[in-house]
Parts: sequence; C-alpha cells; structure tokens
Amino acid sequence: MKRSNYYLKTVTTAPKDEQSVNAKLLVQAGFVNKLSAGVYSLLPLGFRVLRKIEDIIRDEMEKAGGQELFLPSMHPAKNWEKTGRLATYEDIYKLKEGEKEFVLGPTHEEVAVPLAKSFIHSYRDLPLALFQFQNKFRKELRAKSGLMRGREFMMKDLYSFHADETDLDTFYDKMTEAYQNIFKRVGLSEKTFFTFASGGSFSKYSHEFQTLTEAGEDLIYICDKCKIAVNKEIISELKNTCPQCGNQKLREEKAVEVGNIFKLKTKFSAPFDLSFSDAKGEKKTIIMGCYGIGLQRLIGTIAEVWSDEKGLVWPKNVSPFDVYLISLGAEKDHKVKKTADKLYEELKNAGVEVLYDEREASPGEKFSDADLIGIPLRVVVSPKTLANSSVEIKKRTEKEASLSPTEKALKTIIAEIK
Ligand code: ATP
Ligand code: MG
Repeated sequence: MKRSNYYLKTVTTAPKDEQSVNAKLLVQAGFVNKLSAGVYSLLPLGFRVLRKIEDIIRDEMEKAGGQELFLPSMHPAKNWEKTGRLATYEDIYKLKEGEKEFVLGPTHEEVAVPLAKSFIHSYRDLPLALFQFQNKFRKELRAKSGLMRGREFMMKDLYSFHADETDLDTFYDKMTEAYQNIFKRVGLSEKTFFTFASGGSFSKYSHEFQTLTEAGEDLIYICDKCKIAVNKEIISELKNTCPQCGNQKLREEKAVEVGNIFKLKTKFSAPFDLSFSDAKGEKKTIIMGCYGIGLQRLIGTIAEVWSDEKGLVWPKNVSPFDVYLISLGAEKDHKVKKTADKLYEELKNAGVEVLYDEREASPGEKFSDADLIGIPLRVVVSPKTLANSSVEIKKRTEKEASLSPTEKALKTIIAEIK
C-alpha cells in the first residue's frame, strides 16, 4: 500500500477529549476515529488489526470444534422477557416500532438458544458449539477507557451445548486452552492471567482472562506459585487465599478483563425448554457454556501494553503491516525512487505486507510517523544508504539500525519478519 493515497493521517498532538493512552495513541496514529463517547470507527489501519485478531480467534475456535454463523443484532423483546433479562439487564438498548419491541443485542443467549432448539433433538445432535463475530450494544455509563470499553463493539461469542456436565467440563478445558493460545498469538500471554471470578448462582466460578495494565478497571490477586489470579469480587469469599494451593500471599494488580468463559448449565436452556432425548429416550435439559472475547478491547489492551513514549509497538501477528518502507529524497534522486519502488514490488510479490511511505515529506516527519504507527520493521532507502549500496533496516523495538546490501535486502527483510 502506498502512503500517498492511503486513508491515513496522523496527528502530532494527542486528542483532548480522550483520557486513555490507547485511545490517544490509536486516534493520533490514524487507526480509529471517535464518533461519540464509546463509539469508534475503525479506519483502514485499525480494521487491518481487527481482521488479524479475528483470524486468530476464528482459527482457534474452529480448531476447538466451533462452527461459525452470524446472528442478528435486533432481538424481539419477548425473547428477553422469557429469560427475565429484559428487566434485569441494565445496559440494554431498547427499540420500539409501533407495538413491536426490540432490543439491540448486548449478548446473544436469547437468540442462540431458541436457534439451537430447532436443530437439537436427540443425543446424536450433541455436542454442538456455535460462534460468531458480531457487534454488541451496551449502555456503558463509564465509557472512558477508549477502545477498551465501547458502547458498540465486536465480540466473538461462542455457545456450547452438551448432554451432561462432564461433556461441558471437557469442552470448557478445551476453550481455556484455545483462549490461552489466542492471548499468546496476539502478544499478551506474559501479562494475561487465568482468573477465578464469580459464577453467579449456577456455577461456583466463572473464569476471566485478565491482562495486567494500569488502564484496567478490575483488581485481581495473583498467586505467583500457580500463576493464576482471583478477581476482587470473590476474594473475600475465598478468605484471601489461592483457590488452587491455599497460598495467602497474593499480589494485588490492576487488570482488564480481555475474555470470559462461563458454565451456564441450564440457566438459558431451561427457560426456552431446550432439551434432547437421551439414548433411553428420556427427555433431558441441555447443559450450556458461553465464551466471549471483545475485539476492540483486545486492540485497546495491546495498545496499552505495547507502546512507548514514541507510539505504538505492534506484536507482529497483529500488526497492520509487516514493513514500513520509507524513501527519502526520491523526488530529487531517481536512484532512490527506482530502488525503493523495486523493493516495494518485490516485497509485495513475496507476500510481505508493506506500507510504503513514498510521500514528499521530511525525514523527521516520516520517522516519527513510523514510530507512532508502530509497524515492527522500518526500512529506509535514501541517498545516504545508497552511497553504501545498502538499505537501512530497523526494528521498532530496537534503537539501532543496520545496513543491508541492496541486493540482499529482500532476503534480509523476509528473515527479520518471520
Ligand atoms: P466488564 O466487566 O469489563 O464490563 P463484562 O463482564 O460485561 O465486562 P462479558 O459480558 O463477559 O463482559 O463480555 C465478554 C467479553 O466482551 C469481555 O471479556 C470483554 O472482552 C468484552 N467486553 C465486554 N464489555 C465490553 C465493552 N464495553 N467494550 C469492549 N469489549 C467489551
Ligand atoms: Mg460489562
């Protein structure tokens, strides 16, 4: 992609109406645009990041046996009356059209469960795991955390259906592993803790994946022996001890909930009478689990964790591009233009995703943009580098640049981004 006709404008000063580091950086670097509090447009750069995260999550969900579908955002209010949540779900947006009432889905049990009812009849139809990427709508009162707390945001939500609790437990463990893989692949595993949280009335615990950051709105207590954590909301119930090893020396940290997995048991299957007949022909209520991850929240969290005083520092699997290629002085120096253009074409042909800054702009402007945008590898072609028959290569995470002979540049770059 060439910078000069790409929908990307960076801004030098941080937006005044943002409090969070992630929103400041993502707005400044041209990844997102704020429409109103908690409502953001994803610009081409931001959307590329979302797509990469989406692909990673999809891959892990499919490996665990999930089947993707796409459910509506507009739900008949009567579905929510059935579970009692029309009155109790505080963050829900309601719509009215004459006599008809709808809600904008803040979550999708009220759609997924009646849908599964039309498919599941016997034990042969089980287990079943359905997932989607879908926008959720929630009246978040405190929308101050930028991308980490939106009023409209994309969630991957998966609903699993089982014949018994043992089968749910097995699948739950599989999902735990899939989530751990996801956080590893997006570059958050070192700071993300499997966290015991309250399970409501139908299960002892639910589990959250909590990522350490000062921007987080949760408090967790880490057991350094087990490398797990407990959410503040249930710590007193556990008498301040680790539920796994009894350790009483827990470390308090601020964190953000990046994912949540839940054993629902029959909470939603019962009100919809979602049942099956077992091998003996007896009717039984289906056992369920649900598993969510917010995509914008992940983008915001990655921006908080992976940034420095100069800007964003994307982990390579989620970076919008692999390489930020800069040409300097190309308008006056034909050889620079020719070399940079050629390298750009060769990289593209090799399947490397390149953002090519071929604009007529000062070196300072191009370098500070490269740092702000945070693509893992910066490559510079200038009269100076060509005087050494080389191009300059620098990692976003390192201070020092190095020269690579022009004819070897393609190979070197490909080796660096692997
Ligand atoms: P929180 O306590 O932070 O409001 P929640 O308990 O309401 O989160 P869930 O209903 O479990 O969240 O949603 C599943 C996942 O969706 C969360 O783990 C988080 O990753 C994401 N998520 C929830 N609310 C938001 C939001 N307002 N903006 C972006 N992502 C969100
Ligand atoms: Mg919430």
